[in-house]
Amino acid sequence: MSATAALDAFIASHMAQSTAELARLCAQPSISATGEGMAACADLVAGLLAARGFDVELLPTSGYPVLVAEARGRSARTLLFYNHYDVQPPEPLELWDSPPFEPTVRAGALYARGAIDDKGNLLCRLAALDAVRALHGGAYPCNIKFVIEGEEETGSTGLEPFVAAHKQRLAADACIWEFGGVDHLGNPNLFLGLRGICYVGLSVRSLTQDVHSGLGGSIFPNAAWRLTWALNSLKDSMERILIPGFYDAVQAPSARDLELLAHIPDPAQSYRERYGVTEFLRGVTGGVALERQASFEPTCTICGLNSGYQGAGSKTVLPAEASAKVDFRLVPNQTPADILQKLRSHLDAQGFADVLVEDLGSEPPARTDPDHPFVQMAADTARVVYGREPVLVPMSGGSGPNHAFIEHLKVPIVTCGAGYPGSQAHAPNEHVRLDMLQQGIRHSAHLLQRFADA
Ligand SMILES: [Zn+2]
Repeated sequence: MSATAALDAFIASHMAQSTAELARLCAQPSISATGEGMAACADLVAGLLAARGFDVELLPTSGYPVLVAEARGRSARTLLFYNHYDVQPPEPLELWDSPPFEPTVRAGALYARGAIDDKGNLLCRLAALDAVRALHGGAYPCNIKFVIEGEEETGSTGLEPFVAAHKQRLAADACIWEFGGVDHLGNPNLFLGLRGICYVGLSVRSLTQDVHSGLGGSIFPNAAWRLTWALNSLKDSMERILIPGFYDAVQAPSARDLELLAHIPDPAQSYRERYGVTEFLRGVTGGVALERQASFEPTCTICGLNSGYQGAGSKTVLPAEASAKVDFRLVPNQTPADILQKLRSHLDAQGFADVLVEDLGSEPPARTDPDHPFVQMAADTARVVYGREPVLVPMSGGSGPNHAFIEHLKVPIVTCGAGYPGSQAHAPNEHVRLDMLQQGIRHSAHLLQRFADA
């Protein structure tokens, strides 16, 4: 039997144990937003790795501890896995068909908060370790490290300084990221970059208290209008961001990037069906233009707005305060610090010195070279596991702390996981399909084996 066939056979015959282990992980709440179950979950994950021969340590950060685990292997090469043990809050509870922390298998899927994000993907690594170790008579074929943080769902605020401070300890030759899986057509997708993010709170207070609009409307400044005008100054109706210098550092996609974008199956119709979107921004209809806009261009998004009276009927009142949450998704080589400073200068120059800007968290963009040999390895193994041509996605529209690893550890990063577009990550009825879980385990195992052999 070939090594890959042996891995596959082991994985197939251990799916019941893998599903049970995932259920155990998901039954333990670990909500970083509220703190519920965080310490117990970190201990549970530490135990699962210790049982697999890892030296495990929970190291302090400015927030929840980071779990660092290490096992020695036969070759000198080191593969690093980045995952997280925290999950999103489960609310609204009434929209779940089974309780979020009572993992339930139905119709070939396991339902629970964290089933895919990120406990399902973490389980793929754990089950892959078992298969690889069985193949090698109880040893690992290469050195393996884990960084499993507890603040991914709240912005990974403590992680960048943590990675910077532990460069030696975390040193590796390559890194497998926390998520991955297939697209709407079932093709494995390998994400190679993440946009950055600069998340701000904007607020205005124009008076010490709300006022009768019959009085104040004529002669007092209105916080809701002040904020609306300030927001209006940020972007035009063609989505062009009007902050001076905002686009200065933006690096256009290369010819190679555009070639990769052209190979991504057009998701336009799938978005229309899933989200009910009738028109995409700037009139794009799909294809490369849509992909390029979705991943290689920066954005300014109003995530929330709050001011004045929103109850039943009418209330003639002039609001004394107004606030908004705004995120800027950033592309290489923009930096959050630069954007924050340009935003402040812009608001001041436009006469909005009264609009306060609060930094609510940021992450710079980062990406891996699509022609790196490790990307090739991940693509080759995905082709074998899924029996379909993998799609290389040079940049994802989302954000994450990949820059800390790329910047400080200089590792190439690829994704590998058990997700599919219907997984409902962050939403009610989050689940992992058990067939996708098995594929995610297989891809993790094949890639680990291939990496060790290289
Ligand atoms: Zn998440």
